[in-house]
Amino acid sequence: MNLAEIKSYALERHIPIIMDDTLEVIKDVMKDKNATKILEIGTAVGYSALCFAEFLAEGGVIDTIERDEERVKEAKENIKILDANKKINIFEGDAVEILPTLNEKYDMVFIDAAKGKYPFFLQEALRLLKDDGIIFADNILYKGYVMSDYNKHKQRTAVTHLREYIKLTTENPNLNTKILEVGDGLAITTKNKFEN
Ligand code: SAH
Ligand code: MG
Repeated sequence: MNLAEIKSYALERHIPIIMDDTLEVIKDVMKDKNATKILEIGTAVGYSALCFAEFLAEGGVIDTIERDEERVKEAKENIKILDANKKINIFEGDAVEILPTLNEKYDMVFIDAAKGKYPFFLQEALRLLKDDGIIFADNILYKGYVMSDYNKHKQRTAVTHLREYIKLTTENPNLNTKILEVGDGLAITTKNKFEN
């Protein structure tokens, strides 16, 4: 198995892996950034982490969190097959419980898990982010529901929390946020620098 095969096998089974245009945006940022520490919330089968690993600085590490046992198992296999054990470290369990136990600082955080938890993930991502770090939040436009007057059905809670994430990141004067219409929507947030 190579990365392309991991990707098609995941797509075949409707595992929601990162979309190509979203990945391109993140890769471009990573090429400039020389990131050594990355935090990912939502590993699935390890596809995005394996993509990011190619652009990681020498000696860098990706910490990634996944709560689904089967996916953790598959991610571990994929990471082993691509010989990325030294670069990718999986935390097994619910990110809501694991994030508060983390204390290292990260260059980049990729939020790609339960949409209803995005405001909480943001709070933890900001705590764990280096001053010059960057936060990406995938699926921020959720099939267009987030920016429409869509307000019913089972996705309502997710939509409410995604809207809250956008509000929190765009209205905070200490943060800079762009929302891109790539893939399922990508929010990019950095901390403002206060230079004299
Ligand atoms: N980043 C992956 C795709 C992740 S899909 C890629 O692009 O290749 C979202 C994953 O987040 C799912 O596997 C789901 O099980 C996991 N997830 C959702 N909520 C979570 C939570 N609260 N804690 C840990 N994992 C979670
Ligand atoms: Mg996603």
